[in-house]
Amino acid sequence: MNTLLPPPATRSLGTCGTEVSPLAWGMWRLAEDGRAPREAAMLVHAALDAGITFFDTADIYGFDGQGGFGDAEVLLGEVLTADSSLRKRMVLATKGGIRLPLPYDQSAAYLTTAIDNSLQRLKIETIDLWQIHRPDILAHPQEVARVLDDAVAGGKIRSLGVSNFTTHQIAALNHFLGTRLVTTQPEISPLRIDCFENGELDQAMMLGLTPMAWSPLGGGRIAAPKTEREKAVAAALDVVADAQNVPRTAAAYSWLMAHPSGIVPIIGSQNPERIAEAACALEVRWTRSDWYAVLIAARGEPLP
Ligand code: NAP
Repeated sequence: MNTLLPPPATRSLGTCGTEVSPLAWGMWRLAEDGRAPREAAMLVHAALDAGITFFDTADIYGFDGQGGFGDAEVLLGEVLTADSSLRKRMVLATKGGIRLPLPYDQSAAYLTTAIDNSLQRLKIETIDLWQIHRPDILAHPQEVARVLDDAVAGGKIRSLGVSNFTTHQIAALNHFLGTRLVTTQPEISPLRIDCFENGELDQAMMLGLTPMAWSPLGGGRIAAPKTEREKAVAAALDVVADAQNVPRTAAAYSWLMAHPSGIVPIIGSQNPERIAEAACALEVRWTRSDWYAVLIAARGEPLP
């Protein structure tokens, strides 16, 4: 069929029974510019008002701000404490396993502490989805799996995911886990298309992992393309955006969502109007030919 399926109203996180919105909102940039809890709360509400129930943060977000490591989690924790009704309206994902100055540490002792510290900063009882941010090559997956299974058994974590893992690293960790992974979070955008052909999304479908796309606009370059390649991708997105009267950014999110693996783009904007307009992505419909036209523009050469 030439027309691709629209996204469903909700996506399931693996087989853990948790349903999330087809778009997520990310808090990498939340603690920038000394944002106050009141402003952070406005952004959380903008995401909820846009129908987003899936929220992504990490312990390292905001590390270069005023308070240092953990700033973004602390800020969200303050928002959640000020309005206790918010917590049950969201599926909250965070990450750990990166240690400054930039080694990765997935030793049992560090992971246990990192999970406890995230719970304290967020001021919550349980993390809905805890993800390993980047793989620690020096950690044996069996040891990592044991710590994560213990955290699930202890009620600290509801479900598990990884980010920036290779397909082999995912397979190895999943092999040892009692509670299997439910998400993977690679960088995916119309400018970052590796995972469409390198097996990552095929593995996600095989294992039932929900792929979460980080930097779905290429860090904003889709909105303000500079290179010839970026302009060609923007032009291919505009064909669909203009015809369906939506912003180019919405076309970019929906292009990702049209993939059969059920990609959940993580909206990175910290601007309430842009968060609101992301919801337009749910209305966009793709044909095979329009979808492939974006891929071909991103490849910079025709398909064989
Ligand atoms: P992005 O959506 O690719 O980029 C967002 C940036 O683009 C913001 O600075 C935004 O600025 C800017 N932008 C400019 N024009 C825009 C427009 N018209 N609409 C929307 N945004 C526009 O996403 P990202 O922030 O790079 O990443 C998204 C999320 O992915 C993060 O919050 C985090 O949760 C996750 N992430 C994960 C990893 C990982 O290693 N797992 C790495 C990076 C990110 P304004 O805020 O001013 O709108």
